[in-house]
Amino acid sequence: MDPSWTGGVTRMAVLTGAGISTDSGIPDYRGPEGLWTRNPTLVKAFTYGSFMADAEVRAALWRSYADHPAWTAEPNTAHRALATLERGGPAVRILTQNVDGLHQRAGSSPRKVLELHGSIRETVCTGCGARTPTRTGGARTPTRTGGACTPARTGGDPGDRRCPDCGGVLKPAVVMFGEHLDAATVGLAERIASHSDLMLVIGSSLQVEPVASLCATAVNGGARLVIVNRDPTPYDDLATAVLREPIATAVPRICTALTTVPA
Ligand SMILES: [Zn+2]
Repeated sequence: MDPSWTGGVTRMAVLTGAGISTDSGIPDYRGPEGLWTRNPTLVKAFTYGSFMADAEVRAALWRSYADHPAWTAEPNTAHRALATLERGGPAVRILTQNVDGLHQRAGSSPRKVLELHGSIRETVCTGCGARTPTRTGGARTPTRTGGACTPARTGGDPGDRRCPDCGGVLKPAVVMFGEHLDAATVGLAERIASHSDLMLVIGSSLQVEPVASLCATAVNGGARLVIVNRDPTPYDDLATAVLREPIATAVPRICTALTTVPA
């Protein structure tokens, strides 16, 4: 391998998508084994309008969350290699489309990880905006919360969840269809991208905006763009390098090259 593009990198942004977590047993969304492919009704549950309108839809979503593989998944070699960069490579910020929290579990500093689409580990009240740890509810998953959120006790579907303070509908703090990304988070991601020497994209098909256009932001700011993804992306033509090999081998090798570049 000729990692010429790994030379001279002092600040890098890493944009990760579902592809980095499939090796940890978390399915992607639209692939052959994807979440939406296997259970199309969940698309409705992940659409803000139908979620807010229908207590049964909300209950279905919370049930699916109780079984979400992210609660028990372990970070894989790619997550760990990226975390290692913090201790001997360029300054690195991770911009992730994933909601599984595996970068942090792998050892990346939480302040270095921007969760562009939110996190399943947090629940937000649509009434008062209060945020609490997500209560998984299912017997199969460990309790990870202080139990601040309780299901509605009166009326509606017993699986629906309401805010104990204001009675508002609780939803996972993830960006649903029909919702905008947090503007401050996107703004920070754009600043990080535009100030990087290298933008490394891992396991994202770069189909979802505004996240995908962070690649153009980085290139316009002078960064090299390197894409590691199984399938072609709309940004391949902008890239210095496109790698189709498995993430599990490509990412550790890239990280090693970035940490062994002579000073
Ligand atoms: Zn509330």
